[in-house]
Parts: sequence; C-alpha cells; structure tokens
Amino acid sequence: GMQYPEWIWHNGAIKRWQDATTHVMAHALHYGSSVFEGIRCYETPSGPAIFRLTDHNTRLYASARIYDMPMPYGLDEINAACREVVRRNGLTRAYLRPFAFRGLGGFGLSAETPVEMSVAAWFMGPYLGPGALEAGIDACVSSWQRFAPNTIPAGAKAGGNYLSGQLVAREARRLGFGEGIALASTGLLSEGAGENLFLVFNGALHTTPVSAALLNGITRDSIITLAREAGIPVVERDLPREYLYLCDELFMCGTAAEITPIRSVDGRQIGAGEAGPVTRRLQELFFGLFDGSTPDRHGWLEPLDP
Ligand code: PMP
Repeated sequence: GMQYPEWIWHNGAIKRWQDATTHVMAHALHYGSSVFEGIRCYETPSGPAIFRLTDHNTRLYASARIYDMPMPYGLDEINAACREVVRRNGLTRAYLRPFAFRGLGGFGLSAETPVEMSVAAWFMGPYLGPGALEAGIDACVSSWQRFAPNTIPAGAKAGGNYLSGQLVAREARRLGFGEGIALASTGLLSEGAGENLFLVFNGALHTTPVSAALLNGITRDSIITLAREAGIPVVERDLPREYLYLCDELFMCGTAAEITPIRSVDGRQIGAGEAGPVTRRLQELFFGLFDGSTPDRHGWLEPLDP
C-alpha cells in the first residue's frame, strides 16, 4: 500500500494526514466540483526548487474562476502552503497537490457552498512506471473521446474532467498499454489521459492546439520554450490520428509524466522503437534545469527556501 506523508495543509493550518477530513455530503464528492494542480519539487545544486510554482497556482485560480468558485485563500498563501507542506514532511523530491473544492453547505448544483482548500505533497517517481523515461511506453488511441469544448471546459483543471481521464487510462491499461491518447470531439488528436502530446517530423516539434480540448500544460509550454531557444522549430497545429503512425518520434509530457517517450502506438512502432534524438535532446534540456546544465532563463525554479 501507499505510504502517506505525515503532514498536510488544510483550510489554513498544517494538520496530521489523518485529521484532514471533510463530510461525505461535500458538494465535490457528488458533482466533481473541485479544481487542482500537480506540481513537482526537484533537488537542484542550489537546494530544492518547485518548478513553476506560481504559474501552476495561477492556473489553479483560473480554473476556480471558470467555475465561479470563490477561493478563501490568496495565491501567496497557497504558494506558502506548498512550500510549508514540502518542508514539514522533510521532502526534497516531491509531487505537490494544491486543490480547492466545494464542501458541505448545499445539495443543489448551483449551491453556494463553502470552499475548502488543501495542499498535499508526497514522493513520486516516474508517473508512467520505472524505466518509462528511458525506454518509452506503448500507447493506444482510446475508444473514448475528449469532451467537446462547449460541454466541459478542458482549460480548467477540474476534478470532473478526470472522469474522462479515468476512462481513457483504465481502458489503455486493461488492454495492456502504458497510456491512452484521446481524440477530440472533432475527431482530431487531443492529448493523453493526463499528458500533452508532441510529434516530431523532420526535426520539428508538432503539438496539438488548445482548440483540441486539451489542458494548456505547463510542461508543454516549458518544452515549447526550451525547444525554440535551442533552435528546434515548434508548430502548434491540428493533427489527424494517422500522423501518429507517420511521425519520426512521439512523446507525452506533463508534470507527473515529465517527458515520456512513446515507442509504439496501437501496436505500430514509432521510429526505431526507442526515444529518438529530438526527444532525448528535450529530455536533456528539461532535466538539465534541475542539475544546472540548462540555465533557468525564466525564473522557473522557485526555491523551496527563498
Ligand atoms: N493534460 C491533462 C489532462 C493533464 O491532467 C495534465 C497534467 N496536469 C497535462 C495535460 C499536463 O499539464 P502540466 O504540464 O501542466 O502538468
């Protein structure tokens, strides 16, 4: 079973893990009314640093705004809570989960319930399994489509969105694949269950646009920036499914998945069936941020102890 950390931040205070409880009739449990973030803290030569902490928590507030969810704590308080939870648990490499949810206080869909906020942090290795970052994974296109843009907003990182993610990920694993890729309601490529998608053609990066019902990932944005700075062309464009079978390289990215190569899709080998040169170069640049070999030109490394 999972080893839980000792401390968690909940509604303004650090508590013991087992004391951070809510009521079973909390609105979010019934209707998916929560917003959250996933953030990583890395060890760097100048101490632990939280990667793009402020950008992640800014997106948390944007998600809440989309759902008219009034946030009882401000951005600075949540940034501070993130740091405090990592420190109190004695973590250095960690995954952070700040979130807000509609609590107990009404059972109607539009009820103005109190909003609770919490931040958890725990150790997390490679999300898609040991060795996934090096060897890559086998992916499949899901039989489940992403929600259409006029149904559930993909730009909000809300709990309810992850019903779709669970269908995609569980189907993929049931069929023996490492992860599932979903098509948008337009039929065009969207993203992975919890990861954005990049394809490589002739040395250039191609990634699907936000119009394909995907989360505007912070890792995706970081990769676009690092690639352009390294002279690798990047195109954001609509891509039909068959481009998966034609590309030279393919990878997924996200806070949890980092940069995970995909060695096959739907049983068809991609390139040489291993991480290709552009994927490896981007892994080097991305992970280089944390060992100091890539300069942090944009202030992405926010020190745990500023
Ligand atoms: N898409 C989905 C559906 C996700 O859940 C995530 C993970 N947050 C991503 C993409 C990647 O986003 P990020 O790089 O900001 O973690």
